[in-house]
Amino acid sequence: MSINDFKFKRDKMVETQIIARGIKDERVIAAMRKVPRHLFLDEALWPQAYEDYPLPIGERQTISQPYIVALMTEKLNLKGNESVLEIGTGSGYQTAILAELAEKVYSIERIASIAKRARKVLDDLKYTNIVIKIGDGTVGWSEYAPYDGIIVTAASPYVPKPLMDQLKIGGRLVIPVGGECSQDLIVYKKTGENEYEEENYGGCRFVKLIGAYGWKE
Ligand code: SAH
Repeated sequence: MSINDFKFKRDKMVETQIIARGIKDERVIAAMRKVPRHLFLDEALWPQAYEDYPLPIGERQTISQPYIVALMTEKLNLKGNESVLEIGTGSGYQTAILAELAEKVYSIERIASIAKRARKVLDDLKYTNIVIKIGDGTVGWSEYAPYDGIIVTAASPYVPKPLMDQLKIGGRLVIPVGGECSQDLIVYKKTGENEYEEENYGGCRFVKLIGAYGWKE
């Protein structure tokens, strides 16, 4: 398959999975058209890279379905000057989308081999506004806090308190909360020091968030 074939498939993905399902933010749509999702996968999976489902990335982890990436990103409401914290770097695909839309992206991944592979792909694509750290993201990353947006791309039994604390007032936390088998996608808007508004965007399914403020191993 050539570069043009992938571009064709990517545009079709955006039309049928992203726009058709109601994603409206033009910047999110442009980022989804641009970022070469297949490069975040093993070559054997390239033919499936633009299909409407998650795919394995090794270590029993997955790259999220394209629509979920678009939906979660849209809910962060990014305009371009934000600093964003991502928990669960995984393939690095969501990280790249965020890097297209915000000023700076801090991303934490607990599995070293996965973090290293993501770093390599993102370096090859010449992203210079992404910092990746290996560790437990449920405690956040206090060094660069507070954040305008925080996105958790693994299933959380409850909202990790450090993440709420590291969110700016006016900022948003997007996180799948629930049981091991299914979660609800929740968006929290921080309206005051200990005040939040909460919106539920329905069912989703992620791999487990494992850490001090998550599931135990
Ligand atoms: N957005 C990624 C999703 C990867 S799956 C993508 O689309 O590729 C979720 C990732 O979260 C896995 O790589 C898993 O190892 C990681 N993870 C789980 N618990 C974590 C924690 N406490 N801190 C950081 N990363 C974690």
